Amino acid sequence: MTLVAPLGLSHWETAPDAVKAAARKRITAAVEQDPEELVSVFYSVFMHHDISSAFLSHSVVHERLSGSLRKWLLGLVTVDPLARLEEFEQLQLRIGEVHARINIPNHLVMAGATLLKAQIARRIMSVCADPQELGNSIILLDELVDHAVRIMSSAYDTNAREVIKENEAYRYLALGEDVELERESQRAALMEWSQSVLFSLLAGAGAGPSETLSASPFGLWVRHRAKHLFSGADMLKQINTAMQAIDDTLLPAIRDASGGPDLPALITQLKTQVEEIKFLLGTLFQAAASVENGRDPLTRTLNRRFLPALLGREISLAKSSDVPLSLLMVDVDHFKQVNDTYGHSTGDIILKQIAETILESVRSSDFVFRYGGEEFLIVLVETPKERALVIAERLRQKVEESEISLPDVAPVRVTVSVGLAAHEGHPDPKYLIDQADKALYRAKNAGRNQVVAD
Ligand code: GH3
Ligand code: MG
Ligand code: MG
Repeated sequence: MTLVAPLGLSHWETAPDAVKAAARKRITAAVEQDPEELVSVFYSVFMHHDISSAFLSHSVVHERLSGSLRKWLLGLVTVDPLARLEEFEQLQLRIGEVHARINIPNHLVMAGATLLKAQIARRIMSVCADPQELGNSIILLDELVDHAVRIMSSAYDTNAREVIKENEAYRYLALGEDVELERESQRAALMEWSQSVLFSLLAGAGAGPSETLSASPFGLWVRHRAKHLFSGADMLKQINTAMQAIDDTLLPAIRDASGGPDLPALITQLKTQVEEIKFLLGTLFQAAASVENGRDPLTRTLNRRFLPALLGREISLAKSSDVPLSLLMVDVDHFKQVNDTYGHSTGDIILKQIAETILESVRSSDFVFRYGGEEFLIVLVETPKERALVIAERLRQKVEESEISLPDVAPVRVTVSVGLAAHEGHPDPKYLIDQADKALYRAKNAGRNQVVAD
């Protein structure tokens, strides 16, 4: 297995087993003496910090985090960091992820850990008279807590980076129309280069084209902006290869053939290759359009990968502006049966129709995501629970009443179940989604085709 953080457990690795066993016993006893107090010591740092105290004051967060911290503390002393590496890591990673999601800065975690170590050390000191044993216990404790915090930090970093990436993706979502503009202007840039090459040849400029495609504005765009816009796209690699082929092979051949009998064939070849790049460019934008402008190609609802970024923003906004926010989780009832009866492609048509009904039922300021195969998640901005209930009920009814026309078969009707969750101050988007999910589960259990609020 690969370690997420370097060990830094030298004393753990070198101390004799008997020493370690004694120290572990001391540390465990010190923690178990009063874990609650240690939890409070750890979180006291956060409570005195402006950013964190605001949301940690939410009772659910407090309970949950205290609960996980308690588990973490006990895990820290019961799971041997060397013998059960993976398990030890998992314990730390989970906490780091939560901290990242709710934005608890790493430096606060470290400050909390320092207080925690001091408090545990004090407890050990009060009962351990042997200086040798005391020293060993404290060094081992130090290594243990630091190692745990290192793993937590690495999980935090990874998750924080994810959030940044999602935010970037969100930017493209907002810039959807500019992508269209970008496509047109790059197509024009490519054609302009091609025209200028042909023109210089026709004008009989002895050496032929002087500017390579890579050096042209189009080439620059491919190397810099396109790389940023379509990172990792296979199509982009193909464009690069085609561009290199023109610059490295075709253009020198055209120069060599200047005025000779091979020239017309080479020019035709150039035109063909430019057309090929134009085609690749179109495909690149097309493939990216559905992803980069964030919409699911079948239902035109938003791609779920934008959800964490968007919901995070809306939750912050709800908090800072003190406005309500509600979430609806919509799941089509017995859709598997629909597929089995009518076939998958007809299922697609039905799904598309349901998505349309959903989109028609909400305001343009709301956000509809395709959350799963036949699940949609709706973010109702500035909407209190009571209002969200009305919207959800209206939506449910509309779906129930809509006849969906299908080729070759009689129209069908389907129903949806809806779970509603209202934001009540919890900062973690995942928490709100889970609430809506639980409500949906209850709606399903209660017989489907209904709305249940959390
Ligand atoms: P329930 O009322 O409990 O939600 O029943 P269900 O059959 O809808 O639930 P389940 O989640 O078991 O099945 C969902 C089905 O939706 C399974 C899958 O075949 C179908 N599905 C998911 N995505 C698509 C899609 O894009 N197109 C089509 N045609 N079917 C899909
Ligand atoms: Mg489902
Ligand atoms: Mg379903």
